[in-house]
Amino acid sequence: MAVDTSTHFARTLQSQADPLNGALVRADFPVLNQEPRAGGQRLAFLDSAASSQKPQVVIDALTAYYERYNANIHRGVYELSEIATAHYEESRKRVARFINARSAGECVFVRNTTEAINLVAQSWGRANIGAGDLIVFTTMEHHSNIVPWQLLAEETGARLGHVRITPEGRLDRDHYAELLAQEPKLVAFTHVSNSLGTVNPARQMIAQAHAAGAVTVLDGAQSVPHLTVDVQDLDCDFLAFSGHKMLGPMGAGILYGKKPLLDAMPPFLGGGSMIRKVTLDRTTWADVPAKFEAGTPAVGDAITLGVAMDYLDGLGLDRVWQHEQDLVTYALDRMRDVPGLTVYGPQDATDRSGVISFALGEVHPHDVAAILDEDNVAVRAGHHCTQPLMAALYVIATTRASFYVYNDHDDVDRLVESIQRVADVFR
Ligand code: PMP
Repeated sequence: MAVDTSTHFARTLQSQADPLNGALVRADFPVLNQEPRAGGQRLAFLDSAASSQKPQVVIDALTAYYERYNANIHRGVYELSEIATAHYEESRKRVARFINARSAGECVFVRNTTEAINLVAQSWGRANIGAGDLIVFTTMEHHSNIVPWQLLAEETGARLGHVRITPEGRLDRDHYAELLAQEPKLVAFTHVSNSLGTVNPARQMIAQAHAAGAVTVLDGAQSVPHLTVDVQDLDCDFLAFSGHKMLGPMGAGILYGKKPLLDAMPPFLGGGSMIRKVTLDRTTWADVPAKFEAGTPAVGDAITLGVAMDYLDGLGLDRVWQHEQDLVTYALDRMRDVPGLTVYGPQDATDRSGVISFALGEVHPHDVAAILDEDNVAVRAGHHCTQPLMAALYVIATTRASFYVYNDHDDVDRLVESIQRVADVFR
C-alpha cells in the first residue's frame, strides 16, 4: 500500500511571477470561508503570529494519516508502521530542505519552539555552562527564550545579560557589542520580534557572537514561516521554530542544531526510542536525531508539517515576504490617519515583518480587541509573552494585528475602520 503525500498543491496556486493574491490563497483555508455570524462580515483573521490557519491540503494530509497509515513508527515490522516511518523520515528531509540544513539528521522533531529552546538549555546548557559564565539574550525575547536561560542560570550559577532596545524597538547594537566583549558562552535572540515585528540582522549578530566565542540560538518562530531562513547562510548553531505558526498542525516543531553540537550533547528526555542499549545499570544512546526524540512522537503532525512546507514552497517564500511587506506598508500608512493611534516598533516597513502592535490613546488594549471582535476582526491583546519588552516600552499590554498569506488589503481596511469605530466609541 503506497500513500503519496508528495503531490499536495494549493488549489489556487498562482504563477510565481505574480504577486501573491491573499484573497485567492484564502480560498484554500476552510476556517476563513465559513458563513459569517448573522448579519456580519467574513472573518478578518489577524492573529497568525499566535497561530496560523491551516489550508485544506494540510487538513487532508492529517486526515489521510489517521485514515490510512496510522501506526507507531520505527521497529514495527509490518506494512503500516513501515509506511508511517517512511513518511515521518521523508518529512524530516523536507524540513532539512526548507531551512537548508546540511542533513536531515540535524533536524529534531519537537512539539514547538518552547520545547526546542528548553532542549538546548537543559542538554547543551547543563553540559557547557558553569558558575559565572555569561548567557546573553535580549529585551525583546518571547518568554520561551528567557525562562529556560533563567532556569539554567539558577541551576548553574551562570550570569545573564540582556541586550537593550532602542526607542524605535530595534536591538541596541552598541550594547550588544559591549555584552559580547564580556565573552558570553551563549547568545540567544529572536530573528523576528513577535510583538514589534522588528527583523533583527541575524547573520551579522551571529557572526559577531561567533567572533566572541559564543554558541548561538536563533528563535525562528516568527521568521521561518515568513521569510527564507537558510541555516547555512545564517550560520546559527541552533534554530527553533513551531509548525503551527507556518500552516502546519499544532504538535510538531523543529530544533535544528549543527551535527557536531548535537552529537556531543547528552539526551534531554530519557525513555523509549532514544536508546541504543539499556541494562538495569546503564544505558547508551541512539544517534541523533533519535537521541532527542524519546517516546512516541506526534507522527501525523510531523508528517503534515512537511506538507505545510510544500504548500509554502508552492506559494514561494519570497512572494510571501513581499506580500507581507505590501500589507504592512499599506497598514502603517492607513493607521497614521487614525488620531491618537500609537504604533510600537519600527515606523516603516524596513526590516519589519507583518506584525503591528498598537495602542489607541488610553483605551485598554483588551477593549480595543473586544470591539474589533464585534466587527469580526480577530486580533490579540496582552503582553504577547514579552513582559520585559512591555516594561521597556512602559506599557502593560498592546493590541496586535499580524498578517499572513491569506490576508489582503480588504483585511487591513476592515482593521483600520474598526479601530476608527473604537476611537469614535471612546471619544
Ligand atoms: N518565540 C516567539 C518569537 C514566538 O512568537 C512564540 C510564539 N508566540 C514562541 C517563541 C513560542 O512558540 P510556541 O508556543 O509554539 O512554543
